[in-house]
Parts: sequence; structure tokens; C-alpha cells
Amino acid sequence: MAQHRYFIQTFGCQMNKNDSERIESIFSTMDFVETQKPEEADVILLNSCSVRQKAEDRIYGITRNLAKLKEKNPDLIVCVTGCMPGRDKDGKMGEKLDSVDLFFPTHDMVHLPKWLGELNPKLRQMEDLEKDYLALRPTLKKTYQAFVTLQTGCNHFCTYCVVPFSRGLEKNRPLQQILEEVRELAQNGCVEVTLLGQIVNHYIAPDPQYFSKSNIYNTSDFAKLLWEIHQIKGIERIHWTAPHPIFMTEEVIDALTLPKQINFLHLPVQSGNTQILQKMNRRHDRDFYLETVKKIRQKKPNIALATDIIVGFCGETSAQFEDTVSLYKECDFDISYNAQYSSRSGTLATKIFKDDVSHKEKKRRWWVLQELMEDIVLEKNQQYLNTTVQVLVENEEAGWCTGNSSEMKCVRFKGDASLVGTIVPVSIYKAGMWMLWGRKA
Ligand code: SF4
Repeated sequence: MAQHRYFIQTFGCQMNKNDSERIESIFSTMDFVETQKPEEADVILLNSCSVRQKAEDRIYGITRNLAKLKEKNPDLIVCVTGCMPGRDKDGKMGEKLDSVDLFFPTHDMVHLPKWLGELNPKLRQMEDLEKDYLALRPTLKKTYQAFVTLQTGCNHFCTYCVVPFSRGLEKNRPLQQILEEVRELAQNGCVEVTLLGQIVNHYIAPDPQYFSKSNIYNTSDFAKLLWEIHQIKGIERIHWTAPHPIFMTEEVIDALTLPKQINFLHLPVQSGNTQILQKMNRRHDRDFYLETVKKIRQKKPNIALATDIIVGFCGETSAQFEDTVSLYKECDFDISYNAQYSSRSGTLATKIFKDDVSHKEKKRRWWVLQELMEDIVLEKNQQYLNTTVQVLVENEEAGWCTGNSSEMKCVRFKGDASLVGTIVPVSIYKAGMWMLWGRKA
């Protein structure tokens, strides 16, 4: 009997990517194989993102095109999961997707085998796999690098954000389950883990009895977890995203100095103006953020910092935007992920504020930040000239290896495929805006 095939497409953040890896493990339990061609698939699954309207519009567009494929292959099953079904409380989004057979929130992926079997009895018949989807082991494309989800959902309700609606309230994974997963990864050759959470540094262990007695931290479960992961042999680099400034406590900042911690932190600020931060319900002001960055740099002077910024939030004046520009310079970020504010239905900002900054002005502000970032990043990258960085090699092509340094700088150097998955010291001789070139040291 020919093997059934699935095609999966993932949109949005690393959390969605990690969820897709879990869905892939469900498909392999059902004896499916992956195909890169949708027209060959028995099941097409889209893991959607709702962060901006454009991301949702893409799903509407793709599913409209899939209707044609379904005409050719009436057995084809189309599924949409992720943020869109998660926030579709009144069912209106699902109604608009008529070529979609299964429209389910992420946590319902455990029912996928049963539902697919009901839709097509020729598929392997199976019951639900687990009660909790986070207990499913993700299928990894690379053995040396893995995402590990610590929590899903969020209780913070920033006024612009759909996450508390699409993913629900914060739910932390049991510590024991996380540590088991990381130990298993290390045994299978994983050297770098990226810990994921909506507010990753707010992790609270539901089973704190599994922390070691010798743990050096007392008050922050997240810092304690970092310390526990440091004890796991084989793990060489620890990366986490995304923290919230208000939970960058003394202990979490101290944990940045643990030896396996990468020399990079992504700390979203969203705006440099206190009134805008209040309207966003970020729960801190400009000075608090600057003070936090100062404390981080005191502990780890050369850390590379990244941030997220939204320009053109409701009512943002030019002067308020200039506060973001000055904060950017003061923090001396290495990189920032800039977004033009996009009103999202269901959020508080959409209900109570006017999206009144023109599209043209949002675009202008976005470019101001983008150009500032490009100027700073080039200058910062030049500081790596004649220094040695540690690169986790992810790819080799035509005798050139590529990977990220501990500062999350993309580095290229001459080397062979045997280096993929290993950490190599590389001395830098050339610096561009988005790439450093070096030689194996
Ligand atoms: S902290 Fe704010 S921006 Fe981050 S996920 Fe929660 S609500 Fe969204």
C-alpha cells in the first residue's frame, strides 16, 4: 500500500515552528511521509499566525487556491491550526474557509489522528495520542539544535496583542517533563537548546520539587531552570526567547553569566515613550527599561541585544516616536524587529483607541528605525574584526560553512561538511551588515 503523504506550512514565530515539529511527529506515528509538493499530499496542514492581518490574509489566499486542488483530488484533507482557530471565538473565520476540513486550535492537535481517520477511513485508524500536546516529542530536522517550549499562552494582555486570545492564558510545562526532554535531546547529540515562552522568564514550575537541592538560585524558577539545564552534559549553548523586561530580576540577569548561556538577549521594548508604553499596557516605563539594560550590561558588557519595536501605535505623535529613536541609540541594540502597528480584532487597543497614524507616517517611522539599525549594526559588527567567535555550524555548501556565533551573528568560513553541528572557533577578518567572514582559528 502506498504511503500517505503530508504537506505542512508554518507561519509566524518559533513557537509555531515547534508546534509544527510536534504535528510532524503525529504524522510519522500515523506512518505518513512528508512531501514538499502540496499536489502530492493526502493531507495539507497550515499552521497559521495572527500577529498581523497580512498573516491571516495569506491563509485565506492559500486555502482559496487549495479549493482547486481539492477538485482534482476529492480525498485531499486540508487542515488549519495555530493562532487563527485559537482566536476564532465566534466561528466567523472558520466559516470563511470553505475548502478547509479541520480548523482547530494548537492544543487540539492530539485529536488529529482520530479526526483524519474519521474523514478518510483508508488512513491508519488511531485514537488520541496524549492528553497534553506539549508532552508530544517534536520531530527534529537537525539533531544538534532544538526548540524546547516551556510555556504557552500569556496573562499580560498588552493592548495590541492577540496572543492571550489565540493561545489562552499562561500555562507552564512541568519542570520534570522539560528536563527529561532536554536530557533526551543531549543524549541524541543536541548541543544548543532554545527555550520558548511568551514570557519565558516568567516560567513557574508546577512541580518545583524537581529542582536540585544544590541549585544556586532561590527566588526565580526561570533562573533555577537555566541552572538545571546547565548541569546537563552535552548541552553547550542555551538560548531563550522572549523575556519581558519586568521579569528580568537580579537572578535572571545573573543567570546570563552562566557559561553555556549565549552572549545574546532579545528583550522586547515596543516603544521608548512612557505614555505609549502605558497605552500598550506594557507595565513598565522608559526609565525602567533603560535601567534594566544598564544592569544587564554591567553583568555582561559585550552582550548583543535585540528588541522588538512597534511604530505608529494608536495616537503616537512624532515626538513620542523620537523617544523610541533616542532609546534605541541609548540601548545600542544590535538588531531590532520593527513592525508598523496593525489593528487586530478582539484586542483592547482596537476597542478603545483609534488607529490614527497614517499608513504613510507608519512607513516613514519604520524606515527611520530601519536605517538607524543598519548604521549601528555595521559599526557594531566591525568590532568583531580580529576577534575569535564561537560558531555553531548549521550548513555547508561548496566548501563554505555558515552558522551563528554566540552573539547570533551569521558567520561564514571555509570548512567541510564534517563541521556541521559542531561549535568552531572562527577568527573574523571581514564584517558586513548581516554577515561576518572568518577563518577557522
Ligand atoms: S507579554 Fe504582551 S506582547 Fe507578549 S505575548 Fe503577552 S500580551 Fe502578547
